[in-house]
Amino acid sequence: FAAAGALLASLAACSSGGDSGGGDAGAGGGELVGVAMPTQSSERWIADGNNVKEQLEDEGFTVDLQYAEDDIPTQISQIENMITKGAVALIVAAKDGSALTTVLEEAASQDIAVIAYDRLLVDTDAVSYYATFDNYLVGQQQAYSVLNGLGLTDLDGKALPDAPAGPFNIELFAGSPDDNNATFFFNGSMDVLQPYIDDKTLVVKSGQTDFQVVATQDWKLENAQSRMEDLLTSTYSDGTQVDAVLSPYDGLSRGIISALTDAGYAVGPDWPIISGQDAELDSVKAIVDGEQYATIFKDTRELAAEAVKMTIAVLNGEEPEVNNTTDYDNGVKVVPSYLLSPVIVTKENVTSALVDTGYWTQDEIDG
Ligand code: BGC
Repeated sequence: FAAAGALLASLAACSSGGDSGGGDAGAGGGELVGVAMPTQSSERWIADGNNVKEQLEDEGFTVDLQYAEDDIPTQISQIENMITKGAVALIVAAKDGSALTTVLEEAASQDIAVIAYDRLLVDTDAVSYYATFDNYLVGQQQAYSVLNGLGLTDLDGKALPDAPAGPFNIELFAGSPDDNNATFFFNGSMDVLQPYIDDKTLVVKSGQTDFQVVATQDWKLENAQSRMEDLLTSTYSDGTQVDAVLSPYDGLSRGIISALTDAGYAVGPDWPIISGQDAELDSVKAIVDGEQYATIFKDTRELAAEAVKMTIAVLNGEEPEVNNTTDYDNGVKVVPSYLLSPVIVTKENVTSALVDTGYWTQDEIDG
């Protein structure tokens, strides 16, 4: 299989000839850009891939878009193939941010520009720039949405005057430990929630507050669902209620909702407040139906535009615009970053945030 892959890659390299011949169909002139995405198992990455591809093609580039289906060796060989085919730049959303070191060194040795997309590439010098959302703010917003759903604060985290005293039982979920974003989300959330845990307004009844313990390997719905089932059995079988669940991603929220429903919870006054991220269609519907309280909307069209702008600047030997040069230390260097702004979406602003912006149509949400 590997040999066949190498053969295909070298054939592709021969046919592309390594030089685009200086066409003038836009900034790209037909040059190849490799776009490596982690998985098609979640809507957002499909949208990301399509948006980046379309926008690069509009600029006159040829695009090799690949999805790794959450498999590290697959992503490594996809990137190797992009290099062999003569890519001038790579836009990479890693499955595992630390697993690409060797292949990225190879890219750097051939002066191929590497842009980290949404997820930081760590333990490598080979990444030039990083386009993402403000991941720490995403975590804070997830916590604000939980506090807001419980009636404790507004969506900016400001205490509400007649807030209930609690205590409220909350359980915590984090993302996949191989994704640098997961710790940013969790730290942002915990910095907001900790004072409420300290003064006992919030009670993590299971006692599980450690990132490694609450993390969800591979961001998988099934993993979150089975952990929620275990929590309900181990901690809530005495009849006490879960009042809130901090969830960092819509897919996990759907797993958590299934576990709750299976355990007999029903939407109504006792239904828990659940957070999310990505404004995935099924979860937007769940917000409208009152199953999920909120999500964090990150407009993948804007992120794609930012990554494409960065790529073009680097290829032109210019400095791309960045707005953060302090927060994203990848273990080897601080990667200059452009952070976009995430938006909290609850039932109240589904229309203005998601429909009016053309992210989803009303028919899709109603359908
Ligand atoms: C992204 C999130 C996404 C998660 C799971 C993270 O790296 O920033 O938007 O929910 O991966 O796919």
